[in-house]
Amino acid sequence: MTDRNDILFQRAQKTTPGGVNSPVRAFRSVGGTPRFITRAEGPYFWDAEDRRYIDYIGSWGPAIVGHTHPVVVKAVQDAAARGLSFGAPTEGEIEMAEEICRLVPSIEQVRLVSSGTEATMSALRLARGATGRDKIVKFEGCYHGHADSLLVKAGSGLLTFGNPTSAGVPEDFTKHTLVLDYNNTQQLEDAFKAMGHEIACVIVEPVAGNMNLIKPTQEFLQTMRRLCTEHGSVLIFDEVMCGFRVGLGGAQALYGIQADITALGKVIGGGLPVAAFGGRADLMKHMAPLGGVYQAGTLSGNPVAVAAGLSTLKLIQQPGFYENLTAQTSKLVQGLSAAAKAAGVTFCADSQGGMFGLYFADSVPGSYGAVMQSDKEKFNRFFHLMLDAGVYLAPSAFEAGFVSAQHDDAVIEATLVAARGAFAQLA
Ligand SMILES: *Cc1c(COP(=O)(O)O)cnc(C)c1O
Repeated sequence: MTDRNDILFQRAQKTTPGGVNSPVRAFRSVGGTPRFITRAEGPYFWDAEDRRYIDYIGSWGPAIVGHTHPVVVKAVQDAAARGLSFGAPTEGEIEMAEEICRLVPSIEQVRLVSSGTEATMSALRLARGATGRDKIVKFEGCYHGHADSLLVKAGSGLLTFGNPTSAGVPEDFTKHTLVLDYNNTQQLEDAFKAMGHEIACVIVEPVAGNMNLIKPTQEFLQTMRRLCTEHGSVLIFDEVMCGFRVGLGGAQALYGIQADITALGKVIGGGLPVAAFGGRADLMKHMAPLGGVYQAGTLSGNPVAVAAGLSTLKLIQQPGFYENLTAQTSKLVQGLSAAAKAAGVTFCADSQGGMFGLYFADSVPGSYGAVMQSDKEKFNRFFHLMLDAGVYLAPSAFEAGFVSAQHDDAVIEATLVAARGAFAQLA
């Protein structure tokens, strides 16, 4: 055993459960040894053996302008030199809030936090505090962070409440969560008919990216908007992943639907821990110190993290940024589909802005049940063939992929060369 990745993995497992600080990094789904990353630049990162990979996870979304962008690195270095954390307000936080409110028109006021989990957890508490109701609706396959009441799978019947998907979550904590199928408008209608006056909120990934990429139908989003309005329930768009990923203004701009509260993360931190939740001012006024909904954070709005976020938000507003990102992502998925077809492998792919999905299936899935039908074993083999050829895809058949502004034509073509070889071996 001479590979430094193996040595590091052995060492990591002694002091860290599973050797990683977030489960999907452990390669449990695809098998093999996780790569330990030493540095990154543009569309690439390098492992402990100094092997270079074309990176299609981009830190699971944040690295939208490419790794170690000089403007972002300079902003972080300058901020760090002025002080790492004050525990008192800064002007940068105001600028960040103003930028978010300007870019996402449904957000009138916003609070900064340090992770997407905190953002969605706090958004739920706000929805419950503002409505005085307990019940919430979520959709199977959508991930909203690891708060207790959100680690839930559907109960046995449509209108029965959910069961915990994690040990350590009391059933009492999930008994207010109703889990419905993504893109199923009839289930939404039925749920609101039965208990609309008890539903505090509906929380959804308006473009789903945590069960592979699954797009919503316009009707699905429109129906939940209408039902929430009719029943006085709060519509929470969890745009932690899709916000500033599918386009400027996120999924709500793309589909023309206003959320009441939006959760953001990933891209808005530019690689450092910044997330946020915000929405209508009449809802946000329920937050402490103005109102009775409590929420706080020692490092919330951290000046170094905000500097990374603000400089990233500036870069993504450059003319043509999303046109280029969308075009490169399309080139990738079209090229992959063509390569699979030429090799005779059952495969399809889809994308939205800088987010993409790969499916070893006949057609693009529209729900958790459908995506689970795809060929996981084929994906796992494809993943390792690509990894060996220097292309790092998400190490799971049920995760979306991410392209950055630095994935130029040469990088996409190098990926497709690797893919042609991989598909030929799969056929
Ligand atoms: C990543 C993600 C979260 C959780 O964010 P963390 O920063 O990992 O806590 C929540 N919702 C969605 C849609 C996500 O993709």
